[in-house]
Amino acid sequence: MTLLVPQSGAIPHPHPTALSQPFWNGLSRGELLFQRCDVCAGATHTPALVCAHCGARQLQWAPSTGRGSVYSWTIVWRPQTPAFTVPYVPIIVDLEEGWQMLSNLVGCAHDAVHVGQAVEVEFHPLTADITLPYFRPR
Ligand SMILES: [Zn+2]
Repeated sequence: MTLLVPQSGAIPHPHPTALSQPFWNGLSRGELLFQRCDVCAGATHTPALVCAHCGARQLQWAPSTGRGSVYSWTIVWRPQTPAFTVPYVPIIVDLEEGWQMLSNLVGCAHDAVHVGQAVEVEFHPLTADITLPYFRPR
């Protein structure tokens, strides 16, 4: 059994764009943001110019509860670079607002993950400008 923990700052860093910068700014404030459509109320993630459901351009940033459940997962033992601590558990999370995101599970044993597991976001600064969202069991 290995307790899953956040990665160190040595891993490859994300590169925010003008489109995704509000998402990253939210994470730095301890907020998980997604885009909500003014036309159809659908949720969109990753950050986009048009709604993933109806194609409208009227997207607004909205805060998520950060609560959801595990849709899918895997355990990584052979990472892309040796900078990653293994094992780690990438997960796809179904958020309460009806959107999904890719993240990593922390705060439990690597072999405790399962589909449908209730999880909640937690925030871990990687650098002064980048905070990563991880999820822990709730
Ligand atoms: Zn829409």
